Amino acid sequence: MLNLNFHPAGRHFLQIPGPSPVPDRLLRAMSYPTIDHRGPEFGALGLQVLAGIQRIFKTKHPVVIYPASGTGAWEAALANTLSPGDSVLMYETGHFATLWNKLATRLGLKPEFLGLPGIEGWRHGVQAPMIEERLKADRNHTIKAVCVVHNETSTGVTSDIAAVRRAIDAAKHPALLLVDTISGLACADYRHDEWGVDVTVSGSQKGLMLPPGISFNALSPKAIEASQSAKLPKAFWAWDEMLEMNRTGYFPYTPNTNLLYALAEAIEMIEAEGLEKVFTRHNRLAEACRRAVNAWGLEIQCADPAVYSPVLTGVVMPEGVDADNVRRIIYRCFNMSLGAGLGKVKGRMFRIGHLGECNDLALMATLSGCEMGLNMAGVKLRASGTAAAMVYLQSTAEPADRPH
Ligand SMILES: *Cc1c(COP(=O)(O)O)cnc(C)c1O
Repeated sequence: MLNLNFHPAGRHFLQIPGPSPVPDRLLRAMSYPTIDHRGPEFGALGLQVLAGIQRIFKTKHPVVIYPASGTGAWEAALANTLSPGDSVLMYETGHFATLWNKLATRLGLKPEFLGLPGIEGWRHGVQAPMIEERLKADRNHTIKAVCVVHNETSTGVTSDIAAVRRAIDAAKHPALLLVDTISGLACADYRHDEWGVDVTVSGSQKGLMLPPGISFNALSPKAIEASQSAKLPKAFWAWDEMLEMNRTGYFPYTPNTNLLYALAEAIEMIEAEGLEKVFTRHNRLAEACRRAVNAWGLEIQCADPAVYSPVLTGVVMPEGVDADNVRRIIYRCFNMSLGAGLGKVKGRMFRIGHLGECNDLALMATLSGCEMGLNMAGVKLRASGTAAAMVYLQSTAEPADRPH
């Protein structure tokens, strides 16, 4: 149970790669009274958030909003487009790709799991040529969908989705392209329409900076067409009633009203900064973080610099050091939460989240906590990572356009 007598001074550093820190502005927006979800005010809010989220996904097509965590939107993407026993080609980038694969099996699909062997698959992005080769061999087009994770949150690898699209096209294969960017949206460049994605899955508690509780399916006309003949059972997740009601800004069942207030506010914040500038900020903070890890003399989980994640960095421990012990020290001594290693990489690494409501000094505090905790855990560091990060941040700092 939450210990309400524990009030450490200052704020908790929630540096896990989601849920990410919720800006005060969003918390305040959520505290407005809950309104009638069938009343006139709600329709205006519904239309506002439905249009706003399309701009974030970079799509002109509908985006469905569910009162559910990301896992629900994973299920919705599959249940709306596929039929029992359908073959789907999934790609193993890490723990989240593995969980989506498991979910597909439980729904009654036949997923095939491609990937590089062993830990290597968890250190690289999606290998589009492997997808192309597999689809070319599928002459009867039994594979109905290709499913990939854009930003693999368990490892810190951001795959090239445009390359996956080109691979499907090069194989002249009609499979749908389903992409999970639950942790990538509003952090890493993402283009639903331009990249020819059929269903993009995302969630609220990562780059969008909201608390957990809403998730998304961005659709393509081809996905909507597939949903009309797909036979997997669906009721709560069904797109048809959603799309019908959404036309006027309403939902077929009670939406998460207060989280939609926060969503409207988050979209306003992101667009005030500028979506492209949000991506630039994430890239710069991620680069500073990697410079710190390099200076420490530690390894980054992502082994391919072309696919480094702007959202989080996986820090690999030297032989014999338990990453969970380092995290425990940092949590207890410095009131900071870092991401644990998941699945195959449990204990091998920890994850530093630098997404959403994050800036230079928040990152510096985070890196200081890591450096102190690593020292205390007895990890031999080559040099100061915080110093390296500061040198990079000060040399790339851009003064904000504000009164001075
Ligand atoms: C967080 C996350 C999920 C799971 O979402 P939940 O909201 O926990 O259900 C799935 N995929 C990725 C890539 C994620 O980062």
